[in-house]
Amino acid sequence: MSQEIKEKKPKNHFPILIAEDNAITRKLLEKILIKGGHEVVSAENGREALELFNKNFFPIILTDWLMPEMNGIELCKTIRASSTERYVFIILLTAKDSKDDIVVGLEAGADDYLTKPINNAELMARLNTGKRILELESSLKEANKEIKLLSITDPLTGCYNRGYLNEQLPQEIRRARRYQHSLSIIFCDIDHFKAVNDIHGHQVGDQVLKEFAKCMKESFRYDVDWLIRYGGEEFLIVLPETNTKGAVLTAERLRGTISQREINVDGKPINITASFGVSGFVPETPEDRISFDAMLNQADKYLYQSKNEGRNRVTCGDL
Ligand SMILES: [Mg+2]
Repeated sequence: MSQEIKEKKPKNHFPILIAEDNAITRKLLEKILIKGGHEVVSAENGREALELFNKNFFPIILTDWLMPEMNGIELCKTIRASSTERYVFIILLTAKDSKDDIVVGLEAGADDYLTKPINNAELMARLNTGKRILELESSLKEANKEIKLLSITDPLTGCYNRGYLNEQLPQEIRRARRYQHSLSIIFCDIDHFKAVNDIHGHQVGDQVLKEFAKCMKESFRYDVDWLIRYGGEEFLIVLPETNTKGAVLTAERLRGTISQREINVDGKPINITASFGVSGFVPETPEDRISFDAMLNQADKYLYQSKNEGRNRVTCGDL
């Protein structure tokens, strides 16, 4: 049976799964690894190791080659064939050391190999190589996440950008249609923003945009709805599972909050208002009326109606 050994040393970020059918070798490996500060879980064969791995992710696997039920090669191949969120560094333990065997092991997906009898120093050195690779992978992933975030957000306000809207809204529309949900969008534009820039300068204008976005984010379901800086002082909110009536309530709340909020930029109080245009569809809306362009055009049309009728107001309509 599998055996879990609680580590007593300071937490190591790389728990190790051992698959080894020989009890003596298994105990020896556990002892060395625990001494090295690792959290260790052991299995007596490949199948048991795979079951443990499927329940809990292990970044490092030390597996014997020859084992009953599922051998190390099959274990390697199965893990490589499954899509793991993070990379698994696999070291194959083997008494075999002919070049052909090593090639078979590496081709099966092992990253490295160790020949028995195990040499402590060599084991720790190989583990360190694995840890370096895993650390590299994790920093690469972090960097990619950062790049992805930068590519979909507006640097000034932290809102999503138009590229993200173009990518996500069509998907959101399809999803809403498939599951018979409503979907609404709110277009909003800061009133007389040009005057803010002209009177106070562009730096103050940027501060106002930042504060405006912050105020908006605080006023809606930030985990569900999403805010896009559409361009300049124009913003767009996408509200999944919300009909036009619900979106109008949100827009009215935002309008009220913004008109009452005094934005303080370098000690100067600045009051702004915004105009809103709301558009949306419900499950009953005919298919041919619904599209990305139709939604945006209609919300834009209502936004300009709000502007023409005196600003600081919400205008709406269904598709
Ligand atoms: Mg064996």
